[in-house]
Amino acid sequence: MNATLGRMKILVVEDEERVAHFIQKGLKEEGHAVDVSYDGEDGEFLAEINDYDLIILDLMLPKKNGITVCRELRAGGVVTPVLMLTARDSVEDKVRGLDAGADDYLPKPFAFEELLARVRALLRRQSESKTPTLTLADLELDPISRRVTRGDKAIRLTTKEYALLEYLMRNAGKVLSRTLIGEHVWDMNFDPESNVIDVYISHLRAKIDKGFEPALLHTLRGQGYLLSNDAPPA
Ligand code: CA
Repeated sequence: MNATLGRMKILVVEDEERVAHFIQKGLKEEGHAVDVSYDGEDGEFLAEINDYDLIILDLMLPKKNGITVCRELRAGGVVTPVLMLTARDSVEDKVRGLDAGADDYLPKPFAFEELLARVRALLRRQSESKTPTLTLADLELDPISRRVTRGDKAIRLTTKEYALLEYLMRNAGKVLSRTLIGEHVWDMNFDPESNVIDVYISHLRAKIDKGFEPALLHTLRGQGYLLSNDAPPA
């Protein structure tokens, strides 16, 4: 279950029943709602009348191929992300799929984990374009409501702590020096020799990391701070 993305509605258009059911089963186990269609015409119809978060579309399909389905959906104003399944790692198929408006492609055969990684990336892109919510692991920050949660727990932050966290989240995965943080979260005249950032970081860490796994806010001695799902290199 992907806690940061929640339950999504996904359409799988794939005529090979074994493959279709393999994908459906796996995505259901991830907590998604999955519809399956076995030909291009039916798949296109379902995609037009339902509001899916993602369409997984085989290229070689009976009645109408995936390229045509994708092109017609786009022409009809359907902007749902499309992950195209290609029969082999064919550059030509990839180019045709992307030209037709697919967002990504995956050559068959594929490991389910790989499909899942592509699905997650597309859903994340989709949810970011719908709402500007920032997420890292199970930490979420909504810049509109200014609501911060980790897992199920709401986290109360002071204005400055909030500004610091938002800056860190927008730059997650990057090491940020005190000077950078000072300039962005405080002001141009911030004195990098002062320990005010360290104090705020420790307040923030107590709120977002204490009692949670994994730790997200890391200190890199002599370099600065890093907000990341992965522990920094020692
Ligand atoms: Ca097929």
